[in-house]
Amino acid sequence: MNTLFKNQTIQIDGSVGEGGGQILRTALALSMITGKAFELKNIRAGRKKPGLMRQHLVCVNASEQISHAETQGAELHSQNLYFSPQNIQAGHYDFHIGSAGSTTLVLQTILPALMIQENPSQISIHGGTHNPMAPTVDFIEHCFASTLAEIGIEIGINTLRAGFFPIGAGQININIQPWLCRKHYSKLKRGKLLELQAFAATLNIPPDIAQRELDILNNKLELTHQKQLYLQGISQGNSAFVIAKFEHHTQVFSALGEKGKPAENVAKNLAKEVRIYLDSDAAADEYLTDQLLLPLALGNGGEFTAQIISKHTRTQAEIIQMFMDCEITFQTDKQNLTHVSVKI
Ligand code: ATP
Repeated sequence: MNTLFKNQTIQIDGSVGEGGGQILRTALALSMITGKAFELKNIRAGRKKPGLMRQHLVCVNASEQISHAETQGAELHSQNLYFSPQNIQAGHYDFHIGSAGSTTLVLQTILPALMIQENPSQISIHGGTHNPMAPTVDFIEHCFASTLAEIGIEIGINTLRAGFFPIGAGQININIQPWLCRKHYSKLKRGKLLELQAFAATLNIPPDIAQRELDILNNKLELTHQKQLYLQGISQGNSAFVIAKFEHHTQVFSALGEKGKPAENVAKNLAKEVRIYLDSDAAADEYLTDQLLLPLALGNGGEFTAQIISKHTRTQAEIIQMFMDCEITFQTDKQNLTHVSVKI
């Protein structure tokens, strides 16, 4: 385990920076790992409906369960939380969000603590698998997990059922192996583009929606591969994603269908997002950037180029540095490319 953890009890103002749920998730993860209690005030003060929503409460309850924590204020809509972890226990866990709340954000909360244990864990999380403002399970599987593998973290993800708003009822099973070899990460150049693959999926809605999306994606991007997917589950929904495979990096972009939004527009917006990224020289996109900071801080550090440094990423860096003696910096070069460095 990293030996440079700070010693004091942490007081956090949840209204700092972006003022969203990420502050809570990162505080839970790092509190479990460092063993330090924290008090979080003004939870999600920057959001329209502040306080703990169901997905956030499941993040707290799941953390409480795996670390035998003592908590105060762990209730729906609560804007203050006290969390004091004991020992973390790897093993089998089953977490139910009870709504279409994001399963991947619950995973984001508990994964760091479980991946540094000596024993493996098998986790099931029930809820939404394709949510707006959260990584889709496709992003986690094809981008986040494959990047983690490069620094020695082994997780296997299996989507048993997809879950879309409002019903959810999706299920992901995750196998987390002990992190044995903490490798340094260096991804300043992504290298040549090797493949551009597009996938479009439907669940209990007409499958031609997916084909229409693929037609647009193929038209706007020079795809090397395309495939229509048929999801299992009881909710209804549509999702498309593009995998850009480079010599040294793989990046995923995803989009969700919406009632009343033509499939063509979903695909056009996705193609535009991919095109902007392809026109840059960055390795990590906006979202992978904020998600990579914590694993790099817990491991052997690293550096990479990033397409965008969001407010979310800056807030994430701030919270990590409240718990750990590491240095996270962002420097933009003459070509307007930002270099992210995580030094431990
Ligand atoms: P809230 O307070 O509403 O819960 P939050 O701060 O928890 O908000 P966001 O700021 O929206 O949530 O981000 C949640 C996480 O989801 C971040 O780690 C971000 O990288 C990730 N994320 C959001 N959109 C995408 C996307 N399109 N692809 C991949 N990851 C995404």
